[in-house]
Amino acid sequence: ATPTSIMVGTGRGAELGVLFRKGEALQSLKDAKVVAVDKTGTLTEGRPTLTDLVITEGFERKNVLALIAAVEAKSEHPIARAIVEAAENEVISVPDITDFDSITGFGVKAHVNGELVEIGADRYMRELGLDVEVFAASAERLGNEGKTPLYAAIGGKLAAIVAVADPIKETTPAAIAALHNLGLKVVMITGDNRRTAEAIARQLGIDEVIAEVLPADKVDAVRELKARYGQLAFVGDGINDAPALAEADVGLAVGTGTDIAIEAADVVLMSGSLMGVPTAIALSRATIGNIH
Ligand code: ADP
Ligand code: MG
Repeated sequence: ATPTSIMVGTGRGAELGVLFRKGEALQSLKDAKVVAVDKTGTLTEGRPTLTDLVITEGFERKNVLALIAAVEAKSEHPIARAIVEAAENEVISVPDITDFDSITGFGVKAHVNGELVEIGADRYMRELGLDVEVFAASAERLGNEGKTPLYAAIGGKLAAIVAVADPIKETTPAAIAALHNLGLKVVMITGDNRRTAEAIARQLGIDEVIAEVLPADKVDAVRELKARYGQLAFVGDGINDAPALAEADVGLAVGTGTDIAIEAADVVLMSGSLMGVPTAIALSRATIGNIH
């Protein structure tokens, strides 16, 4: 490609809401074989709401919601906001706490009024030595509905299963279809529950799912996919996605995402829509000439 065609392509991208931060991205995107995509905030809105709260015997709903909201009030995870908002909607007063602790990819904990409150994924509960088997049927149903099941322990006892649901962005299905039309594989990489991730992938026709990935392991998932498929584009929005964005042949950040993700990316999708990915690839093919 000539410098002029790169300039024209970059300009056309800007008009379409696709910001090429580096010229090489426009040149290499045409060769992408696989698009790996973060789930939360990229495929989905990243704004989950609480949909279910099932309490075990001996606990009381309002009390459990107050305690878990007190802990989540200190967390920055989107799940946390869903739980705090649910407590606010039920006009539950949320106590203030001090000793908050976040275990990345697992959950959060703190003492509330002297009581230890722990909330997180099933693997967090397992780590705490708690058996979540009583909720097996609920967890299976919730996961199949594309909801994320979480568990709360109070005073070291399993107190509740909680579910949050994060709506798929309106533009996501068409973007996945467009990527398939361009001949690409689409793979989801997420820290979320496997069943939940697979349900969402099924709805979207995503080809492959790598779930329950710890934030530090996302970059390994990207390396493995590169080895298997060849040229890889990664799309993400979060702080956790920055290493994967850097490791990918081309990293594309959702423009509504975190500054850290945008900094690590070669391309920024200004509208926040995944539709920018097929647009960018088509533009690369048109500009560089290797077109169908
Ligand atoms: P992702 O952003 O893809 O969901 P994370 O690594 O941030 O991945 O989180 C993985 C899982 O860890 C979540 O799906 C949830 O089960 C658990 N988790 C993380 N933060 C919290 C939190 N504040 N409250 C409850 N669970 C949490
Ligand atoms: Mg995300």
